[in-house]
Formats: sequence, C-alpha cells, structure tokens
Amino acid sequence: ELLKTTQTTQDKDNLEESIRPHSFDEYIGQKDLKDVLSIVIEAAKTRNEPMDHLLLYGPPGLGKTTISLILASEMGVNCKITAAPALERPRDITGLLVNLKPGDILFIDEIHRLNRLTEELLYPAMEDYRLEITIGKGQAARTRSIPLPKFTLVGATTKVGSLTSPLRDRFGLIQRLKFYDPEELALIIKRTAKLLNTSITEQGSQEIGRRSRGTPRIANRLLRRVRDYIQVKKFDTITQELAAEALNIYQVDPQGLDWTDRLILETMITQFDGGPVGLEAVAAATGEDAKTIEEVYEPYLLQIGYINRTPRGRVVTTAAYQHLGKTGEQQLSI
Ligand code: ATP
Repeated sequence: ELLKTTQTTQDKDNLEESIRPHSFDEYIGQKDLKDVLSIVIEAAKTRNEPMDHLLLYGPPGLGKTTISLILASEMGVNCKITAAPALERPRDITGLLVNLKPGDILFIDEIHRLNRLTEELLYPAMEDYRLEITIGKGQAARTRSIPLPKFTLVGATTKVGSLTSPLRDRFGLIQRLKFYDPEELALIIKRTAKLLNTSITEQGSQEIGRRSRGTPRIANRLLRRVRDYIQVKKFDTITQELAAEALNIYQVDPQGLDWTDRLILETMITQFDGGPVGLEAVAAATGEDAKTIEEVYEPYLLQIGYINRTPRGRVVTTAAYQHLGKTGEQQLSI
C-alpha cells in the first residue's frame, strides 16, 4: 500500500515536471516580468556574477517556482527548492547554504513564514555571503563567520506585506506576478494538452481558460479533470460543450468560481447584507480559515470585481449579485 502511494506521488510529480515550462520561450504570459528578468540575467552573465536576490510575490499557482527553475537553467546553475515551514531549526538553513555552489539559486517558498532565527541567519548570508553562527551559550558564546559561495536567493510569497522590512530590503529586485488573462490560459491549456496527448479544440481550451481563475496551476488541473471526463464518456476530443459539461459536474462555474467562492459570497450576502464585513467574521461564518480566504480565494474575487475592500471591511459588488442571480443592494441605491 505504501509502495502504491509513493508510486502515485511520484507519477504525479513526474506529470508536474513534464508539463512545467523549461525556458522563457515556453513560459506563457507575464511579459513585463520576463522583460525585466531577461535584462537582469544578461547583465549578470556579462559581469560573470550571480543575479541579485529576487523576491516574487502574487497569488499561489501563478508560476513562481517555475520562474526560479527557468532562471537557474538560463544562468546555467542549480536551483535548490525549499519552503519556510521546512526551515524550522537554524541548521536547516545553514545546511542548505553551506552546500550551495557558486552562482546557485536558493528558492524559498512562503518566505514570509520564516522564523526569526532563520531569518536573521539570512541577513549576512544575503548581504555579504557570510554565515554568522553562535557557538556555546552565555559568557562562553562566540560568533564565527563562515564564508559562503556567492548565490542568489529567490523568495516567493503570497503576502509581500507580511515580510519584515530588513528582509524585504535585502532583495535587489521585487516583482509581482499577475493573474493570466483567458487567452494566455487557453495557450497554456493547449500546450499542456499536447504534452498529455489529449486532443482539444480552440473553443474547448478557451472554455477551460475562462474557468481557471487566472491561474496556470488551476488551468492544468481542470484540463486533467475534463480529460478524465471525455475518456470515461468515450469521446476523443475536448470540445467547448464537453469542457463546460465536465466542469459543471465539478462545480466550477462559467466564471471559474468554485463551491467555496460561492459560499463566501453567499454568506456575505445573506448573513451580512453584502458587507462591509471583516475577514474574521466571514471566516467564522463560512468555517473557512481566514488566511486561506485572504490568500487563496479573495485575490481572484477582488480581481474580477466581485468583492471590494473598504476601510470598514469587505463588500460584495453588484456584479457578484448578478452572477449569483440575486437581486440586492437595493438598500444602497435608495
Ligand atoms: P506556489 O508558489 O503556490 O508553489 P507557484 O506560483 O510557484 O505556486 P508553479 O509551481 O511555478 O506555481 O506553477 C504551477 C503550475 O503551472 C506548474 O505546473 C507549471 O507547469 C504551470 N505554469 C506556471 N506558469 C506557467 C506559464 N507561464 N506557462 C505555462 N505553464 C505555467
């Protein structure tokens, strides 16, 4: 049984890896970011130095890890991937740092979650490529400074505002990833479909693209669900109708909202008259975690204009009422 789960995880990882873009040419969208990074890479290469430390921020699944891997391959170096929750003890980060080769990229996901000790070890490492460690305790404590190879730290976060300023200030480049537009998502879906040997029409890829919440990871996931559906129903091509049919079954609506999005909006409407309402109150009323609402659900609802943030709390917009087929907001228009 254990072997089976390991096998499945590995298959899933292999699948993930096989569809991940390996160069900027394959990486669709995010043109502004690609332009900036291409210049940075070329300059660093000409000077024969590692790139400046880079902080990437934006909602989950937009391609931060992928960017980091592409940077490493363009620079001809290795990329070590880790995440803040895996760096609990000081020796977790020191172990990674001392094993880097010159020019390597260290990718830390969820970097806003680093604990204070780990974060403080990173300051001199980022600034002067030094590891400052304290040996012993109390009066006998001594600090030792160990030189590190020059490396590039790529930090990723969904919440740039949660980074401490000393950490944020040590990044030479701070770049935001934007939601993808439906046409870009359709291109990503066509590319993935090809890699998965699945036939899909133009309209089919657009239908899935529209329902992917601006997010490549979701686009690829929905494509796999639709692919399951046509396989079971014994069709050989994903058309618009089949994509819509399948995604309706998975409760992904034509705007890409899922069950939880709709629960959040409905709760705000029925229990709080559409707002203004605080995040904690929405979390309590829906039973969802406040952080998840803020970092995963809300960014897209804000992006498509279904929610507004005001100083007094979140409000549901008229567009959201219309989407849910509700009349409301009369109280506002009187
Ligand atoms: P998280 O920070 O939550 O880990 P992420 O932003 O690092 O997410 P990635 O793992 O880089 O997200 O990307 C998610 C998936 O989407 C990957 O499987 C990748 O193949 C695909 N993907 C991301 N960006 C693009 C793109 N621009 N073009 C094509 N595919 C992409």
